[in-house]
Amino acid sequence: MQDQDVQPFLIGAEWTRGEGTPFESRNPATGALNGLIGAASAADVDRAVATARAAQAEPAWRDMLPHKRAAILRRLADLIEADAEWLARRQMQENGKRLQECRDQALAGANAYRYFAGICEVMPSEVAPARGNHLSLVVYEPFGVVAAITPWNSPLTLESQKVAAALAAGNAVVLKPSEFTPGPALRVAALALQAGLPPGILNVVTGLGLETGGALVAHPDVRLISFTGGTATGKAIARAAAQRMAAVALELGGKSPHIVFADADLDKALDGVLHGVFSSTGQSCIAGTRLFVERGVYDAFVARLVARTRELKVGLPDDPATQVSPLSSFIHRDKVESMVAMAAEDGGRILAGGTRPADPALAGGAFFLPTIVAGLANDARLCQQEVFGPVLCVLPFDDEADLLRQANGTAFGLAAGIWTASMPRAWRVARALEAGTIWINTYKELSVSVPFGGFKESGSGREKGFYGIRTYQEPKTVMWGLA
Ligand code: NDP
Repeated sequence: MQDQDVQPFLIGAEWTRGEGTPFESRNPATGALNGLIGAASAADVDRAVATARAAQAEPAWRDMLPHKRAAILRRLADLIEADAEWLARRQMQENGKRLQECRDQALAGANAYRYFAGICEVMPSEVAPARGNHLSLVVYEPFGVVAAITPWNSPLTLESQKVAAALAAGNAVVLKPSEFTPGPALRVAALALQAGLPPGILNVVTGLGLETGGALVAHPDVRLISFTGGTATGKAIARAAAQRMAAVALELGGKSPHIVFADADLDKALDGVLHGVFSSTGQSCIAGTRLFVERGVYDAFVARLVARTRELKVGLPDDPATQVSPLSSFIHRDKVESMVAMAAEDGGRILAGGTRPADPALAGGAFFLPTIVAGLANDARLCQQEVFGPVLCVLPFDDEADLLRQANGTAFGLAAGIWTASMPRAWRVARALEAGTIWINTYKELSVSVPFGGFKESGSGREKGFYGIRTYQEPKTVMWGLA
């Protein structure tokens, strides 16, 4: 292997191949090698954090007026938009997501920088009501060095919403993208330098979870760890952070209930359920993976759902006709497959899919057919564990009490969807569901302007919306005596 063939990562203004053993990036649609990526060792991570810490303390960043910081973020947004096609294709090559979705995500990523540039210019400090002869001020300070650790399913959006908010709040960031999707982060970091972000304010260290991510989490100068990924990893990070009281913001997994009442517009509900679970090949933390249908319409609704699922076009991510592209890696496809086998062992009936596609044109990729499993109780393993693939469990319910017991009967609490014609019921059920986002007569609508995060084991803290910037700041009280 030639040293120059290894994709370097960014510390300050320096691109480096790092001391770790380079690792492979592969295209899950074809199995082709995308390239070799440099791996950051613990010493590289230490250098990245030291560089970030020094840059954050520099007047050039610390004292930069908010509207000037906002101007850099807006320039970065413009550069991302101009580069959207490259970014979209790179993400597609790395995680197999449909090209059109990657394009939409590149633009959404640019818009996250614009949104937090706007917040940066208007975020207020506060004067609290005084309870004595003093002025009570509350100002919001950056943490200092923020570690951002992200998964492979949607790096273009998930990384932007973290990095944009953290920078708008005045922090420096060390970003560790997933080993499966290092490309977008590296490119955006190069664009950030071009936009005028001072070197060292955004660093990217590529590498494996335990080695590179673990070193970042354990670093004593990282004051906030903003993590998106699986619940087990999130718990390990929270435990490590607790050793030195570092703050954590955790966006974790889900097993979201998608609920159809008999009085709903069933045609629209059908579209919503299909989109809710099978878009992004089910690799979405908010996927509606447990479908609850009111018993009176259960058989007819599930029969239509199965027919529509079998018609979904599974194909290559750059084919505009494709509705379901491959899973993000071969190792992940094997995991999804084994979870479907587990469901069958537990007595689940496979109503659709359950296998790899027969199409020889797809044989080289990590494909798995959209799958529907019936006949399991809500406490079965498939209904409780996150698959993170195109696998839907269908369950009937009898009344609202039965529904809420089952829908809330999970360790997770990320999202939920309700289809009904009754406004009072929609409101009642929305308030009773234990989840951070509820959709009524729609599903998987996302916006950078509303807070996003999980109840229960789906995480803690919120990203996006105005709360999104507060996640990256510490409130400081200043009491000014007037006596
Ligand atoms: P992982 O938890 O495996 O990994 C997430 C990130 O953490 C990756 O960069 C990974 O590196 C890194 N990592 C792994 N182990 C450690 C460790 N011990 N210390 C520090 N970093 C570590 O999740 P996946 O990448 O598999 O992503 C899928 C998960 O993400 C699903 O559970 C999904 O629900 C969740 N998710 C949550 C979202 C939300 O907003 N709530 C949104 C999207 C996804 P590496 O890739 O090298 O292993």
